[in-house]
Amino acid sequence: GEATILTHALKFGKKTVKTVMTSVADCTMLEVNQKLDMDVITKIWQTGHSRIPIYQNSANNLVGLLLVKDLIVLNPADATPVRTILSFYGRKIHTVYPDDSLQKLLQTFKQSNSHMAIVQEVNNEGDSDPFYETIGIVTLEDIIEEIIGEEIVDETDIFGKKNIIFLFC
Ligand code: ATP
Repeated sequence: GEATILTHALKFGKKTVKTVMTSVADCTMLEVNQKLDMDVITKIWQTGHSRIPIYQNSANNLVGLLLVKDLIVLNPADATPVRTILSFYGRKIHTVYPDDSLQKLLQTFKQSNSHMAIVQEVNNEGDSDPFYETIGIVTLEDIIEEIIGEEIVDETDIFGKKNIIFLFC
């Protein structure tokens, strides 16, 4: 009810990104050299997601964002590489940090005109130099669920969306 929304709305801003993100192990991503043939396009469709982060070499190096609606104009027979679409639309993906507040995240979404960000943190374990590690993704919907205090199930969720994890590496 309204009281639930009010109490959540008053508290959401102080919560942190890491409490609402989808962890990297559950993310559907694509490699930049992946060819978008019928098989791959079908698998993307099966995930039900609208935004697919694109990486080069590893998830720690995210180079852009594929919007699934950009695929409508492709001919699967051409097997267009993801890279071609990225260079055409040039959609960037912003980085946020696990301890950022949701208030700050909302500000980032508004300023960047985007609805998804990647969550990275410095990994300084081990002997090598510290590096940025991707630990998850977060979307506007993850914030909205915090504000209203309820899960949102969208049209594609009812198919029983499957996450296809790094399947295309
Ligand atoms: P829509 O088509 O309604 O935008 P969506 O699944 O693409 O749906 P959101 O509605 O923004 O994206 O997010 C719903 C949930 O799915 C969120 O918890 C979000 O973190 C997660 N999510 C979004 N995109 C991906 C993805 N590529 N891989 C894994 N999880 C994702």
